[in-house]
Amino acid sequence: MKNKMVIFDNHCDTIVAVRKNNRNWLIQSEDGHWDVERFLKVNGRYQVMAVCPPPNLLGDTATSFTFEVLGSYYSALRKTDKILTIQTKGDLDKVGEKLGIILAIEGANPLLGRETLLEMFFRAGIRLITLTWNHRNELADGIGVGGNYGLTNAGKNLVASMHEKGMAVDVSHLNEAGFNDTAEILKSGMMASHSNSFKICNHPRNLNDKQIKAIADRNGIIGFNFASGFICREKEPGKETFLAHLKHIRKIGGSKVLAFGGDLDGINRGLITNALKYPDLLKWAGEILKDKELEDFAWKNSYNFFKDLLPGA
Ligand SMILES: [Zn+2]
Repeated sequence: MKNKMVIFDNHCDTIVAVRKNNRNWLIQSEDGHWDVERFLKVNGRYQVMAVCPPPNLLGDTATSFTFEVLGSYYSALRKTDKILTIQTKGDLDKVGEKLGIILAIEGANPLLGRETLLEMFFRAGIRLITLTWNHRNELADGIGVGGNYGLTNAGKNLVASMHEKGMAVDVSHLNEAGFNDTAEILKSGMMASHSNSFKICNHPRNLNDKQIKAIADRNGIIGFNFASGFICREKEPGKETFLAHLKHIRKIGGSKVLAFGGDLDGINRGLITNALKYPDLLKWAGEILKDKELEDFAWKNSYNFFKDLLPGA
């Protein structure tokens, strides 16, 4: 029997979701989709954890919300020795038996368009920023806005600064004009943390072929999102539709872009809604991916992406 494959997932909403019912995300639970114990059980070794401020929080209320959630994350760390917060290239190799967590902000509104706040979030451990959620913020427009505005001047400056600092710039949720502006600035370090193929499922949250190609050309990664509506709009998704996305993304972008971005605890219905089920997806993926490609999809592409990008030795 093969060793259990390492899993690296590029998006979950757990640290915000648990605020609704005070769930302890360190221990195994029947509630919610993801917790540290469940993920470790399936050899989950790397998880990007996003703080997504609710869209009704405007201005600096989004900033304080984000710092408060980060505070609750670091408070939780005092009660466990199972987690390593990954902030540098070297940290990626120190995970051992622990879970490596990369902190993210989903929707850059907490930055208020300011370099100083970007600096503080960087120092608070944030290493990935999804430029928008579905609405507009100081940097760009999300896909829910309509219209064709790209990055603002502040957005352009901050994208360049994020890259200089060694932070990943995430285009999931971003509109097409913003995507194109981002692609113009970045030659690497650009990812879609939780989006699928528009060709296979024509949801606006998914990536068209040109976008898949642009991410691949920049050595980026595309995290596969488990949300039912982003996999298939007509019926509940299963193995066939899952594999159709993988095949198509591989055909357009090559196997080096393949990654997980499950969106657990951020979705209602999904291909899987339980972290214990990752191995089922790897088993299915193994029907079309060769051993090496399967490992790349499960964790290596994501690992390499952050290894290239993060600051420090
Ligand atoms: Zn999202």
